Amino acid sequence: MEIFEHFKDYGHEQLVFASDSGTGLKAIIAIHDTTLGPAAGGTRMWPYESEADAIRDALRLSRAMSYKSAVADLPLGGGKGVIIGDSRTLKSEALMRSYGAFVDTLGGRFLTTTDVGTTTRDLEYIRLETKHVLGLPLTAGGSGDTSVMTGLGLYMGMKACAREVWGSDSLMGKNIVVQGFGKVAFNMAHHLLKENAQLVVSDIYEGPLELAREMGIEVVSQENIYDLECDIFSPCALGGVLNSDTIPRLKCQVVAGAANNQLETEEDGWELHRRGILYAPDYIINAGGIINVSVEYEAAYNPDRAREKTERIYDIMGQVFARSKSEEVATACAADRLAEERVASVRSMKKMFRPG
Ligand code: NAD
Repeated sequence: MEIFEHFKDYGHEQLVFASDSGTGLKAIIAIHDTTLGPAAGGTRMWPYESEADAIRDALRLSRAMSYKSAVADLPLGGGKGVIIGDSRTLKSEALMRSYGAFVDTLGGRFLTTTDVGTTTRDLEYIRLETKHVLGLPLTAGGSGDTSVMTGLGLYMGMKACAREVWGSDSLMGKNIVVQGFGKVAFNMAHHLLKENAQLVVSDIYEGPLELAREMGIEVVSQENIYDLECDIFSPCALGGVLNSDTIPRLKCQVVAGAANNQLETEEDGWELHRRGILYAPDYIINAGGIINVSVEYEAAYNPDRAREKTERIYDIMGQVFARSKSEEVATACAADRLAEERVASVRSMKKMFRPG
């Protein structure tokens, strides 16, 4: 692959590789942009089919983190770490510490947290080698489970969608179909049930469905989830679920869910726009997790501060909708413009020599 071409097109700053034959570590860290602050992003451990796939993932995901932090008004840039290998068989204390030492060599240009294939236990090992790690357990002085704030942010984002479409931000009586009843959906459901929304959920496993039934939530098969008539469709499981196959089947007025990269292509965002379905850009509505860890970065973690910052997702969504209307663009496009403008504006700051 033409890496420098990619740098030119997407504006990446740095791509770093590490290998440690003693522990089996093969890792890549991509730093997309540090205009707003140190590059922050999770570390994913995955058995990539090729090194090119791993590089592509690191580049793509680090760029997405820049956009997410920029729109959420955080003092953070975008980065991502990937470790090549199967987390179920290759992971060890030594491997994670070796990765932590690698993160440390960047001197704070990259701050990492969990992602697919890594856990807070791994962060504790990484922490033994570097202080540039966020999202540690509450008992270790960190910000704890991110899904609590992600669930709150999702709820606030849905309320902003309701205000836009129905003129009131109340979700009382709204029919909300949720795909995937994992950690985030569970936390979101608490807020929605308190407001007397009508939830319907699907999952591929019995455990989460059992939990939903205990909470008094209706459970449906995942097969025809896209065909259900509802007010809000909420993808909370997988990426790429909004595509040319599924969009024509949707019978909702709003799509608002936690899953990353919901749109299979950019064109799918425009297709939702043309069909009059309000799409809540995923990286804005699911920013509660990165907002939570950013509070740990600012100072000693304060849950009230995290909650207050997460609730701002409501206003940020309002800005996106206003922009989408005034410029007649899809909401996904409006979100990208807001992110790019914030980075460009901070980049334009006059540089002054400051002694010390
Ligand atoms: P999770 O693994 O706890 O939950 C996902 C759920 O989806 C699981 O219960 C799984 O069984 C179910 N699922 C998988 N495939 C499905 C399918 N085809 N149909 C129905 N259900 C299916 O994950 P989570 O932490 O709740 O995150 C949910 C989504 O939100 C993920 O895409 C994640 O990347 C994204 N996200 C999470 C956070 C966070 O703070 N946890 C932050 C930002 C984005």
